[in-house]
Amino acid sequence: SLDVELRKVFKVFNGETAVRGVEFDICRGEFFSILGPSGCGKTTTLRMIAGFETPSAGEVLIRGESMNHVPPYQRPVNTVFQSYALFNHLRVWDNVAFGLRIKRLGRAEVQARVDEALALVKMEAFASRYPSQMSGGQRQRVALARALVNRPAVVLLDEPLGALDLKLRKQMQVELSNLHQDLGLTFVMVTHDQEEALSLSDRIAVMKDGRIEQIDSPDRIYEQPSTPFVADFIGDTNLFEGHLEAIDPTSVLVRTASGVKIVIALPDSFQAEVGDKVVVSVRPEKIDLSLYRPEDAVDCYEGRLEHSMYLGTHMHYTLKLLSGEYLTVRQPNTWANLPDRHTPVYASWMAKDGVVL
Ligand code: ADP
Ligand code: MG
Repeated sequence: SLDVELRKVFKVFNGETAVRGVEFDICRGEFFSILGPSGCGKTTTLRMIAGFETPSAGEVLIRGESMNHVPPYQRPVNTVFQSYALFNHLRVWDNVAFGLRIKRLGRAEVQARVDEALALVKMEAFASRYPSQMSGGQRQRVALARALVNRPAVVLLDEPLGALDLKLRKQMQVELSNLHQDLGLTFVMVTHDQEEALSLSDRIAVMKDGRIEQIDSPDRIYEQPSTPFVADFIGDTNLFEGHLEAIDPTSVLVRTASGVKIVIALPDSFQAEVGDKVVVSVRPEKIDLSLYRPEDAVDCYEGRLEHSMYLGTHMHYTLKLLSGEYLTVRQPNTWANLPDRHTPVYASWMAKDGVVL
């Protein structure tokens, strides 16, 4: 069953369109992320689900009911903001209890629910502290407790870990994921961090300029991006512009403007036709480098090493192909003797590892 549905939702601010016909369905219990660069309309989309913004056109439904005329506090959702938005003059316990007191719940019920919410985020011991007496990660947990205490159907999270440093963010990602699994609630998270979206989500909606580019599982977003933007935004990639020269039963042949020929395994339900302009994406970790031209040299590209970088877990090489294109290559190991800039180096990859966009 569906928890959140967006039907051709638009938002216009003073003549500027921030959200352009966004549509998606979010299932009950799903961890759904909205991913995209700054300014693409992620927060505006989330705020329309929360009810802080009204769509200029289209409809938001929660659990099958239209929310167009339902104010934020009557929606079965709660938002966790990047800035935490805690009351600095209230202790942790009172911060979490605040919403329940407004709803005029009984004293015993408030006590039980606040204790339960603080236990969920492992902050019972901090109940009487003030926000200023806690670290960023602890404040974030309290912000989460304050959202969960209302027992919402859907938890909305706007860059929830954006203010934390890298190490703490990784740790909080694990906690967020565990919390999601334990509670079984629907989470809708906004982030510009592709790694965060890939590691936490059941599905990701990639947004650009107010539109959705692709909605898919993390592995499909990474392995089968549907547009050059998605391929480029999610991780590193090599993009080649060209046109389709031939299609046969198992493969397609793309010729780049510089004359390079690239053979790619025929994808499922291939739409393009011979002559069409296409973009080919090849991930840096799919490329092999060698000092020798492989025996079967159908798909092997000669170049010179321009640059190499040691990155701890892997090496990052930049190759300039004879055709003029640059290739980014990621390899787990380094060469014993790095070839100098005059030595020919050969790059190759498997036909199944190229993606036609
Ligand atoms: P994101 O969260 O992806 O960074 P936002 O949804 O915050 O993007 O913003 C999308 C666009 O809408 C931006 O151009 C932003 O300036 C504009 N915008 C957002 N909120 C308002 C507002 N209240 N008034 C005017 N413009 C806004
Ligand atoms: Mg935002």
